[in-house]
Amino acid sequence: QCPWGAPNTTSMSCSLADVMSEQLAKELQLEEENAAFPEVVAVAEGPFITGENIDTSSDLMLAQMLQMEFDREYDAQLRREEKKINGDSKVSISFENYRKVHPYDSDSSEDEVDWQDTRHDPYRADKPTTTPRRGFIGKGKDITTKHDEVVCGRKNTARMENFAPEFQVGDGIGMDLKLSNQVFNALKQHAYSEERRSARLHEKKEHSTAEKAVDPKTRLLLYKMVNSGMLETITGCISTGKESVVFHAYGGKSATEDKVIPPECAIKVFKTTLNEFKNRDKYIKDDYRFKDRFSKLNPRKIIRMWAEKEMHNLTRMQNAGIPCPQVVILKKHVLVMSFIGKDQIPAPKLKDVTLSSEDMKKAYYQTLNMMQQLYKECNLVHADLSEYNMLWHDGKVWLIDVSQSVEPTHPHGLEFLFRDCRNVAQFFQKGGVAEALNERELFNAVSGLNITADNEVDFQAEIEALEKMNEDHVQNHGKKLSTFSSDGDPPIYDE
Ligand code: ADP
Ligand code: MN
Repeated sequence: QCPWGAPNTTSMSCSLADVMSEQLAKELQLEEENAAFPEVVAVAEGPFITGENIDTSSDLMLAQMLQMEFDREYDAQLRREEKKINGDSKVSISFENYRKVHPYDSDSSEDEVDWQDTRHDPYRADKPTTTPRRGFIGKGKDITTKHDEVVCGRKNTARMENFAPEFQVGDGIGMDLKLSNQVFNALKQHAYSEERRSARLHEKKEHSTAEKAVDPKTRLLLYKMVNSGMLETITGCISTGKESVVFHAYGGKSATEDKVIPPECAIKVFKTTLNEFKNRDKYIKDDYRFKDRFSKLNPRKIIRMWAEKEMHNLTRMQNAGIPCPQVVILKKHVLVMSFIGKDQIPAPKLKDVTLSSEDMKKAYYQTLNMMQQLYKECNLVHADLSEYNMLWHDGKVWLIDVSQSVEPTHPHGLEFLFRDCRNVAQFFQKGGVAEALNERELFNAVSGLNITADNEVDFQAEIEALEKMNEDHVQNHGKKLSTFSSDGDPPIYDE
């Protein structure tokens, strides 16, 4: 006899009732949906958004996209009708309140870099609705003016239909309820503030999930890239940082002939959770390239600006021939670039590779060269340069992560450069490169300046004095010095 009791012989039978069970079907569907949209994106556990599994795992996404398409057509039709009704009358009627703006697309438009985007702002003031100039209907003794109390009251009741669907208005029309203007306006006010409140709650919820992976808006954006064929498959997540999530993807086909999508891409998603970005203000607020825009933008747009900045900086570096990812496309806060690595395996960071002393020396001279090129040819200071943001690939160093890079004349540009130099000098000195300049020598070599202080404190004080001089120059002359260097270009150090 079996010590664990009689073996359980009941097999997993599948009855007709089970097959027909709606409950079971729902459960299965739920399971499938949960599997398709996991809370946390698993690291490289096979593709999670592909062209192939559209029809099974992405039903929800597909539905959202269809709805979006429908809403867009509906809005276009509405605009046509609005135009037809208004003609070229001086007084126009707005259909704005009837527009269907899809919740996941509420601030998008087809063109992607849309800084001047003024479309649908849910917090904007209500447009005053105008009554037609001809303030009456009917003819002769049947004439009723817009002031007719009964008509007006019924109209007000009917207009309650325009409130948000969650807002319970009861069957006012059925019981021929007549609302006075005063009551109606009070109700309307309340309905709109309720709507805004629920919108805010909704937003909070989405931001909290964005902590873990990506929010629905971003997911939809990624999905569109796959759907359009630009990306073949998004395989999984390479890195989740404080400010960004990076995915690996296989490239697809470009819509335009002249552009070639790299076979493997990295997708950097700048996080839409705002708190992480607060302490980065100093990089962008004082960057005069973004000065005019900064004050006018809402936080979401500032995050897009980070992505835009990374794109511009990468392009400058590309043009100078510095090894770095090549920009494929920028869509809102999502930057697609070429993947540094092979077969889904990202190139290791410099901090994670063990290089032979020969390679280490090579890497050092290359880094020095790149820093000079960056400063001189790209007019940029990396501002977060360290062994964490340098990858070792194909026997050379690749620079990444340049969203925070600034021009040298940025009010803190030289301080950032000095910090970069300290990181680089320390890394290569510890790595046994005897030739490695110390941080102060490196700073002078890169910037072409000739700060002679022989200790860190004095050196830093001189840097700050230079920055201050430049700021004063801006105050007095309204423009930046083009460069700090008084004696021309930095000398190029070579192996
Ligand atoms: P963060 O601001 O989060 O540090 P990074 O741009 O440094 O963002 O990217 C985070 C990590 O993702 C990098 O350390 C690197 O390992 C990986 N990564 C980023 N871009 C690429 C790329 N183009 N190719 C390969 N790996 C990349
Ligand atoms: Mn980084």
